[in-house]
Amino acid sequence: MQCPDCDSSHIRKNGKHKDKQNHICVNCGRQFIDHYNSPKGYSEEVKRECLRMYVNGSGFRAIERVKGVHHLISSPFISPSELSPTAFPSLPGGS
Ligand SMILES: [Zn+2]
Repeated sequence: MQCPDCDSSHIRKNGKHKDKQNHICVNCGRQFIDHYNSPKGYSEEVKRECLRMYVNGSGFRAIERVKGVHHLISSPFISPSELSPTAFPSLPGGS
């Protein structure tokens, strides 16, 4: 569990909201609920596929076309820091 704003892992539980666990970031005060990181409905699996395609040399437009996702970079779905190939040194499926 990480803060969607500052990526801090210093998170506290902050009660329940409509039966979902609410969390608050101790670092920046951002409040969020479980599964906040999928606002567009993209699953973690799709995300990893996109990242794998990226590190294998596919361009963003090709990935968007193949996976049917849009605005891959500008959405909160993938952050720029995640797009660094060095962020995935052991990504499965690589050569
Ligand atoms: Zn934060």
